[in-house]
Amino acid sequence: MTLYKAPLDDQRFALFDVLDAETVLTKLQGGDGHTRDLLDAVLEEAGKLSEQVLAPTNSPGDEEGCHYDKATRSVTTPKGFKEAFRQFSEGGWAGLTMAEAFGGQALPSVMGVATTEFFQSGNLSWSLYPLLSEGACHALEMHGTEDQQHTYLKPIVAGEWTGTMCLTEPQAGSDLGLLKTRAEPVGDGSYKITGTKIFISAGDHDLAENIIHLVLARLPDAPAGSRGISMFIVPKFKVKDGKPGERNNVYAGAIEHKMGIRGSATCVMNFDEAEGFLIGQPHKGLAAMFTMMNAARLSVGVQGLALSERAWQNSLNYARERLQSRSLSGPKFPDKPADNLLVQPDVRRMLLTQRALVEGSRMLLLYSALQTDIEARGADEATRQKASELLAFLIPIAKGVVTELAQECTKEALQVYGGHGFIVENGVEQFVRDARIITLYEGTTGIQAADLLGRKILQLKGVGLQHFLAEVGAFCKAHAQDEALRPYIGPLGALAKEWGELTMKLAQLIQTNPEELGAAANDYLYYSGYITLAYFWARAVAAAEKSSQQPAFKQAKRDTAAFFFARVLPRTHLHKAAIEAGVATLPAIA
Ligand SMILES: Cc1cc2nc3c(=O)[nH]c(=O)nc-3n(C[C@H](O)[C@H](O)[C@H](O)COP(=O)(O)OP(=O)(O)OC[C@H]3O[C@@H](n4cnc5c(N)ncnc54)[C@H](O)[C@@H]3O)c2cc1C
Repeated sequence: MTLYKAPLDDQRFALFDVLDAETVLTKLQGGDGHTRDLLDAVLEEAGKLSEQVLAPTNSPGDEEGCHYDKATRSVTTPKGFKEAFRQFSEGGWAGLTMAEAFGGQALPSVMGVATTEFFQSGNLSWSLYPLLSEGACHALEMHGTEDQQHTYLKPIVAGEWTGTMCLTEPQAGSDLGLLKTRAEPVGDGSYKITGTKIFISAGDHDLAENIIHLVLARLPDAPAGSRGISMFIVPKFKVKDGKPGERNNVYAGAIEHKMGIRGSATCVMNFDEAEGFLIGQPHKGLAAMFTMMNAARLSVGVQGLALSERAWQNSLNYARERLQSRSLSGPKFPDKPADNLLVQPDVRRMLLTQRALVEGSRMLLLYSALQTDIEARGADEATRQKASELLAFLIPIAKGVVTELAQECTKEALQVYGGHGFIVENGVEQFVRDARIITLYEGTTGIQAADLLGRKILQLKGVGLQHFLAEVGAFCKAHAQDEALRPYIGPLGALAKEWGELTMKLAQLIQTNPEELGAAANDYLYYSGYITLAYFWARAVAAAEKSSQQPAFKQAKRDTAAFFFARVLPRTHLHKAAIEAGVATLPAIA
């Protein structure tokens, strides 16, 4: 069994010392009460829930997996999941960031992200059930009628019901324009929904008394492609007088047998003239889904952080305890049969890589989440608009890069264990397996890269990048004379300048050949990600100077920043070279 301790110190450092979240949040509309005291208390409780209730279910849940009963076409979750969900719901966590009008606690989105990190570290598979519900809540809040909100939203916020997002079909994955599920109007305001959806997370389970599916389907007069998709509410049990009544004709046809996240039910969902109701405008379903995409993608980025954090904690602990070999410069523990693994520079490289990527990702994700709050409740229109543009730009980095870095972090964590990492009982291999899905769902890395370069840079004329570079420039200027930041301001400023120039050059090249976009996108995503993390590491050094954290904590921040700049940031050279190599180096394959 692997250990887990909620990283409260680091999260508080990122939130309050680096990002000054208390000042930012209390200045927002309706933010008077969002003081550090309150937020600290919420973080502490979330940490406890994760450590005491969720973390112990992680490994047994993986071993047991979900059960599918052919006769009833229903799914049962692993032992302990239902009880954990009950405690989560009773604690009010399902509605933490939802409006009070729907029974929520109206806390800032950044608190949703911060607490979700703990829950996902505790048990990623389990955390997918509330995560899907959160997506459904956002859809209902933004696009539902008052009646729909009243009927479906409140019970989901209360944790009595859960939600799903039914988009994917066998022939329609990244390209949802290909989807075929049909919606026939009945004439009484309802629709008959018919089709097969695959890979539906939380499609069926035993955690709640009803499941509200949000389903993308085509109306009979729908235009072809992505402009002809509408969104429908399809409850598992039809709702009568606010209560689940007659069974609707939507059933789980099977569950997938997966490489990881085995406690999460990934279902084939068969809709056979199931009763559904249009939500939002006809043919605007995909656009409606897109309005929730930032939150959903950010949450998957957090999954990368959450898995990496737990893997890092365990590998550090293992390296401290495992006695093997002697230090290159002579024994460090002469009274023991061997030194511990920490004396080996190569083991420290693996550990520091994890620490730099984990703590850097945490700052990036919390910063992005704060933009969500500013976008919603900033003092004036210009402030809200800027936050919205900055957020749109950062999302593909927060999702695409952080989830890819989680592959590296979990791999390095396993490597620290040596052969023992490969043995199931030691638990660390589960993180490697669980992490593999996060670069695939909610838009693959390829789709994030195309979104960053194609949409956020080219279509939107790089407005988000310009905001970000202006912020980096202002930071460099403000700290130009700061002794502690001397090693970092020069390289960061130079890379920010290079990022702007490379982007301009690339934009011109793509005008001459659109294939250059696809050829550069992945490397451009990573290149952007490393510079973004460098900015947050420089901010961490500045914040450590003023922080009231313990001296050892502050020294670890300085050491990790130095490691990041010396040993991780140079990866930008490699990605720049690959970008400049262009599409000519990607010949046709027969
Ligand atoms: C465990 C699990 C849970 C899931 N949960 C849900 C859920 O709850 N609801 C739901 O609707 N779906 C869900 N999905 C589906 C998931 O979102 C899709 O698998 C994903 O969108 C990718 O689609 P695909 O698998 O068809 O891959 P494809 O779209 O076939 O992609 C294959 C490869 O081609 C690349 N590619 C495709 N198009 C482009 C492009 N335009 N530019 C660059 N590269 C491209 C991709 O990056 C990828 O590497 C889940 C999937 C899994 C495995």
